[in-house]
Amino acid sequence: MSLSLYSQYRQHQLEALLEITRIFASSSDLSALLRTILGYAADLVHADFGYIALTTPSGALRITTGYRLPTEVFEQLSPYLAQKRPVEDFWAEQELRRQLKLVNAVTKATLEQVVSLPLVLEDEEVVGGIFLFRTGTIAFTPGDRMLLRDFADQAAVAVRNARQVEQLRTEKARVEAIIENNPNGIMLLDPQLRIEIVNRAITRLLGVSEDEAVGKHCTRVLKLENRTGEHLCLGESTPPPPTRVLYGEGDIIRPGHKTVTVGVSYSPLFGGDGRLVNIIVTFVDITRYREAENLKSTFISVISHELKTPVSLIKGYAGTLARTDVTPDPDFVRESAEIIVEEADRLTELIDNLLDASRIQTGALSMDPQPVDIAAVAQKTVERFRTQTDRHQFILDFPDDLPLALADERRLRQVFDNLISNAIKYSPRGGKITIGALRREDKIMAFVQDEGVGISEEELDAIFESFYRVDSSLRRSTQGAGLGLFLVKAIVQAMGGDVWVQSRPGQGSAFYFTLPIAP
Ligand code: ADP
Repeated sequence: MSLSLYSQYRQHQLEALLEITRIFASSSDLSALLRTILGYAADLVHADFGYIALTTPSGALRITTGYRLPTEVFEQLSPYLAQKRPVEDFWAEQELRRQLKLVNAVTKATLEQVVSLPLVLEDEEVVGGIFLFRTGTIAFTPGDRMLLRDFADQAAVAVRNARQVEQLRTEKARVEAIIENNPNGIMLLDPQLRIEIVNRAITRLLGVSEDEAVGKHCTRVLKLENRTGEHLCLGESTPPPPTRVLYGEGDIIRPGHKTVTVGVSYSPLFGGDGRLVNIIVTFVDITRYREAENLKSTFISVISHELKTPVSLIKGYAGTLARTDVTPDPDFVRESAEIIVEEADRLTELIDNLLDASRIQTGALSMDPQPVDIAAVAQKTVERFRTQTDRHQFILDFPDDLPLALADERRLRQVFDNLISNAIKYSPRGGKITIGALRREDKIMAFVQDEGVGISEEELDAIFESFYRVDSSLRRSTQGAGLGLFLVKAIVQAMGGDVWVQSRPGQGSAFYFTLPIAP
């Protein structure tokens, strides 16, 4: 090649490289970049066709970009390139000859020249190769190869950039998935405490949509106060960006929803230059933990109170009976013994209830369902209670043709026991207590109705929780551990039924439960 021809050539190459650089700056589309690079390179060395193949994870090559590449050549070369081998083999003279043969065999062309250059990254990793073919006897010169080297380097950079972009994209998608699917609430704030990202758990916890939250100052979205009334999102006016992880606990109060207790931590995220980039806020729902803690302390106070009364009565009466300095009056002895038995029974009942409550919690409440006559069980229970009160009038309301229920008789007795004793306890001024049942589709619905103090609407759900007692003056004067209705609900549900209550404060309550009909 003459000098002027070479400098023309060189000029072309520089223009092409400049154009490629321009495209690089405006696009990160790898296939568009490779196509341009290959096109210029092929033009420059007058190739008839060519391709760029990239290395696959298994160590083979795969054609990603073709230049005037006939389909049949592509089909012929692909399986050849797909064979795993040391990547240097692909540029070995003898292998290039094989390629020529393969190509000529399908195209019936007389290609005689082939040149190939690996695409090499700075760290020597070979990421692919550029292959160009042409007819004629003029072989590719070292000059051609030198010119092509720049194109191969550009292609390698494009591959590296695309890989980095892909890696970033994967990394971003991974982080997003971790944030979005985290069961704990995660929120990202900018340094001005405006919300940038909220995950699904947060939107569920706060009852706001992502659109409602993003862009807002966090105090506007997060109505979160700690026990001393401080706002748990940092101050609105002069935000003190945290320099270390801050932790607080508070309640999320949403009208019409159960209060959720959360532990919130704020972690600052600093950029390389030490500037605050984000504040990462995580919410952990600790409601259950708090409930368990509360339950534990309620359990201790209720149980100690409920145990103390019968124990001190038993001790008092037994102590008096044991005195040797006085001859006891026989009536007093009988009455004292009756009280001791009654209080011992109360203790036994409390212990039984506690054992049942613990069985319920461990799922070990045993049931032996048999066909049972509900009316007979209710009648027997009522007979026992009749002797305990003269203020209440008991009415039994069972139709004659009521079918037998499928229930565990002992447990059913426990249900009536609890409901009737509550009906008595919580109607201190007496009144009617109606116990009955009726058939309702494929179930039997039983009820215990009283004319007592009733239950306010807000308490209706809570009374079925363990150790829950409505706070009233009556609570202080009646005994109870708040386990009765918890057991009733668990027993009825274990027998395949359901339980609910209707009540009006001051007018009375009606407890309903269903049971399956015996087959
Ligand atoms: P306990 O009677 O030991 O307190 P329960 O679980 O049986 O526990 O009842 C829970 C609470 O529900 C009671 O403390 C009481 O306030 C309320 N309750 C239950 N039955 C009635 C009723 N028939 N009328 C009014 N309040 C009731």
